[in-house]
Amino acid sequence: MTIRNDITIIGAGPAGLVCAIVLARAGCRVMVREMHSGVGHRFHDDFQGLENWSKEEDVLTEMRAAGIDTDFEYHGFDKGIAFDPAGQVHQVCGARPLFYLLRRGRTEGTLDRALLAQALRAGVAVRFGDRVRHLDGPGVLASGPRQAGMIAAGQIFETDMADGAWLALGKSLAPGGYSYLLVQGGRGTVASCMFTGFRDQALHVRATLEFFRRHAGLRMQNPRPFGGFGNMRLARSAMQGGHPVVGEQAGFQDALAGFGMRYAMRSGVLAAQSIIEGSDYAKRWHRELGPFMKTGVINRLIFNLAGEAGMNFMLRRLAKTDAGRLLRLAYGPSLARLPLLPVARWLYRAPLADPSCSHVDCDCVWCQHCKHDELR
Ligand SMILES: Cc1cc2nc3c(=O)[nH]c(=O)nc-3n(C[C@H](O)[C@H](O)[C@H](O)COP(=O)(O)OP(=O)(O)OC[C@H]3O[C@@H](n4cnc5c(N)ncnc54)[C@H](O)[C@@H]3O)c2cc1C
Repeated sequence: MTIRNDITIIGAGPAGLVCAIVLARAGCRVMVREMHSGVGHRFHDDFQGLENWSKEEDVLTEMRAAGIDTDFEYHGFDKGIAFDPAGQVHQVCGARPLFYLLRRGRTEGTLDRALLAQALRAGVAVRFGDRVRHLDGPGVLASGPRQAGMIAAGQIFETDMADGAWLALGKSLAPGGYSYLLVQGGRGTVASCMFTGFRDQALHVRATLEFFRRHAGLRMQNPRPFGGFGNMRLARSAMQGGHPVVGEQAGFQDALAGFGMRYAMRSGVLAAQSIIEGSDYAKRWHRELGPFMKTGVINRLIFNLAGEAGMNFMLRRLAKTDAGRLLRLAYGPSLARLPLLPVARWLYRAPLADPSCSHVDCDCVWCQHCKHDELR
C-alpha cells in the first residue's frame, strides 16, 4: 500500500472534509484550503435532508463504516405529507427513516462544523481565506457546483409549529421541482426548489409560502430569506489535471431531487480510498456511484415528461406502501429504464442549464446582481 503524503484538498464542503478525514486517519498529511473565512458559508443554517432511501444500507451506518463520526445534530424522519399538483394530500411513511434532517451553515451543530471539528481532530490542517486557482502536486478538487442547474430559495424562521416535513408539487410553486417545509425543535425552513423558471423565483417563493400557510398551517417568526444553487452532470472520469474531483464540482448530485450530500460525501470517501490504495478513482466511482447517477438522469427525464397526472400517480403509489422501499427501487439501477439512458444522457450531456433564464438582469439566486461569488 502506497500512501501519498502532503495531499491538498480544495474546498471545505462535505466532500472535501470527508475526503480529508479518511486520508488523515490513514496516516496522510492533509491540508484543506478553503476560500471563505470558515465552513458552511454557502448555507444559512437551513435544514437539509440526508437521504436514506437510495440504498439498502442506512446512510449513517455507511458513513461510520468509512470512519466518519456522525456527531452532528440530526433527526430521523420516517414520515411526511406530500401534496400533489391538485392539492390532494398523501401521507408518506417509511419502515425506517426516509431521511435525516440536519442543518447546514456556520453554526455549532451543523454538518459543516461537525466535519470541520472531526477533520481538525484527525490532524488535518485547514487554511481559510485561501482561494485556490491552480493546484500543483497531489490533491483533490472539492470546490462545489460550477453552474446553477437547480436553485432553492425561501425563508428560515423560528416557529411554534410541531415537528414535521411537507412537500408540494406544482408548476406555480416550483417548476420542474418541489417546494418543501421542514420544522424541527422550533426552527423551520421553507423553500421552492426549482429546476427551471429561475427568472420568476420571487413569484414561486411567494406562492410556496402562501400554499404552506393555507395547507400546513405555516407560522413563521423572524423569517430570514435564504437561497442557493446546485448542479448535476454526468462526469466522464471526474479527474482533472490528474486530480480526483469530488462532490458537486464533479457533478455528483441526485438529478431527480437535488439531494447531493450523500453523493458528495461518498465521492470524498472513494477518492480518499483510491489515494490510500493507489487504485483508480474513476473506476471506483463508476462502479459505485455510476449506476445511481445514470438512473438519476433517467428519472429526471421521466419526471419532466410525467406531467401532473404522472406526479399524482407517483404520490398515490408512494403513500400506499413503505415509501423507502419504493424509492429504493426508483433510485436503483433498472434494466427496464435503461433504454432511456441515451436520450437522458444526451439531454444532460452538459451541466443542466435553465433554458428559461438568460442569467442576465434577473434576480434569481444564481444571478442576484451577478455577484455569484458572494453567494457561494
Ligand atoms: C439551498 C440548498 C438546499 C439543499 N438541500 C439539500 C438537501 O436537502 N439534501 C441534500 O442531500 N442536498 C441538498 N443540497 C445540496 C448539497 O448541499 C450539496 O450537494 C453539497 O453541499 C455538496 O457538497 P460539496 O462539498 O461538493 O460542495 P460545497 O458544499 O459547495 O463545498 C465546496 C466548498 O469549496 C469552497 N471553494 C469553492 N471554490 C474554491 C476555491 N477556488 N478555493 C478554495 N475553496 C473553494 C466553497 O467555499 C465551499 O466551502 C442543497 C443545496 C442547496 C443550495
